[in-house]
Parts: sequence; structure tokens; C-alpha cells
Amino acid sequence: MEEQLEIQNIHPPSLSRSAKHYHADGDLFVGILTDNVLFCVSTHRFTSGQTTQGMQQLRSTLLAAGPGVGETPATPVILFNVRAKEFDVLCDFLYAEYNFVSASQNVFEVDCLADLLRMGVLFAIPDAISWAVERLDSHPGLTHARRLSLSQKYGITSWFYPSFRSLVVQPLTRLSAEDTIYAGPKVMNTLIRIHDNIITLRHSMVLYPPLGLSRCEANNQCIYTWTALWRTYATSPLLFTPPGKISTRDLLNNFQNDPVYCRICRVCYVSNTAAVRELLAQEGRLISSALDDHYDRLEFWRIRGHLEAIGYIGYS
Ligand SMILES: [Zn+2]
Repeated sequence: MEEQLEIQNIHPPSLSRSAKHYHADGDLFVGILTDNVLFCVSTHRFTSGQTTQGMQQLRSTLLAAGPGVGETPATPVILFNVRAKEFDVLCDFLYAEYNFVSASQNVFEVDCLADLLRMGVLFAIPDAISWAVERLDSHPGLTHARRLSLSQKYGITSWFYPSFRSLVVQPLTRLSAEDTIYAGPKVMNTLIRIHDNIITLRHSMVLYPPLGLSRCEANNQCIYTWTALWRTYATSPLLFTPPGKISTRDLLNNFQNDPVYCRICRVCYVSNTAAVRELLAQEGRLISSALDDHYDRLEFWRIRGHLEAIGYIGYS
């Protein structure tokens, strides 16, 4: 895991009480150092069997900080790398407050779900992870770059390829500043390499029209007509269509409407079309291999191992 829960048993600074989760009947005190907030949660106020396990997991994780820690406001468990808003979301989930929201209102902010996902991983609560992943899976507000970032951070492997491909097939200039921040330097580096390699391939296709090996039925005259049609109709899509978004049909569709098309013999057309198809397949392989390389360097197995160890067996 890149990230570990940072718990310490130190004399706490003066902490202000959480507005939402400082319960009079609470039995566990947690101090959030980043925001200077003290929580008091009631581990006995369970509302469902599912969250009981989560709450027990939270309690045992926090109380591992040391004997007596977390039992009084003066000796809270101190968390260093958790924000108060994240702990709020986790408490909301564990108190099962979200379960009371009706299906029609069951739309949560991406930030809130991302916070719950992080808390689920840090505190080893598989139900919280599954709950967040299921809602993020088709969330309309989750951008491809952020989904990819969550996928890499928390080992949600099913999101990796679809999110990355969605980024590949758009012009780099269309990525927002937020997208580039979520994508991070390693993803941006892979994206730039893919685009650069494909630009090179496309330029070469523009300069050297693909020709198959064929026994021309028109005394080898087809090559001139084919080259002229290629330069007229294929140049623009090759130069301006993003990687992975172009098909053989896109490139050759307009050929048939041109009056000189009939000068190309059938044998040459079939053979040249196969050559175009092979070059576009090469583009597809180039993208797949760059994504596979990136995936292999992520050491997903390590993150997946952690998730499986804590009992998360959801999306693979
Ligand atoms: Zn021919």
C-alpha cells in the first residue's frame, strides 16, 4: 500500500468537538490532528449487522494505538493523515445513516464517495469499500482521470483500462487542469508517449499511402488513382482524429463517391484495404501495449493483496 493509517499515542493539543459526531453516549474518542477536531463515537449504536462488523473493525484498529487510548477526551486516538470530513463520512456510513436515504435520493457527491473509499481502505472495512465502489462505478460526476486515479490508488482494477482508454481517445489539449492533476505525471507521460508514437505512425501513413501486394488487373495503374484518393480523403482524418478513434471504414468511405474510384481494380482495392487495416491494427496494439506496460509497473498485485487480506472481494 502506498498509504498507511498514521495513529499515535501522544498528549493531544486542545481539540474542538465535532459538530456532527461528538455523541454524549460515545465510548471512543478520536482526535483528527489535521483539522484539530475531536470525535466521540458510540460504538454500541449499531443499526445493522453489516456495519457492526465495520464498527468493530474501526474500534479494534484504533484501540491498537495502546492501552486506555481512546477511552477519555484527554486520551483520544490521534489520527495524523485523516481529515475530519473523511472521518465524518465514515461515521455516517457506520451509523448506517446513508441506508435510510431512498433510492431516488441515493446520489452522493463524488468527493464523499472517494472519502469513504479511502477510509474503507485505511481502516480495512470491506463493506465501506464495496459501498463506495458500487456508487462510483457509474457515477455521472466522476471524470475518467479521477476514476483512473482512484483505480490506481485503491486497486480497483476493473476501472483501469476503460478509464485510461477514455483519456487516450481524446486530444491532450482537451484535458482540463483538474484532469492532469488527477492523472498525475506517470499517466500523463504514458499518454504523451502514446500520442507521440501515433502521430509518427499517422504521419508515415500520410506520406506513404498503404499499398498491398497484389496482381493488379489494370496494368499497375491503380497505384496513381489510389495515391490521389488517399491524399484527398485520408490525410485530414489521419492528422486530426485522436488515437484509437479511426477505422478503416472512416478512412475509405469517401473513396467510393469519387468519380475516379472506378479506375481501381478490385484486386488492388482489397489488397490495399488490408494494408490500411493492418496499420490501424498496429495503432491499436501500440495503445494496448503502452497501457499494459503502465499497468504492470503499478504493482496492482500488492494493492489487491492488501484488499483481499482485509476481506474485500468485490470488483476485480
Ligand atoms: Zn489494380
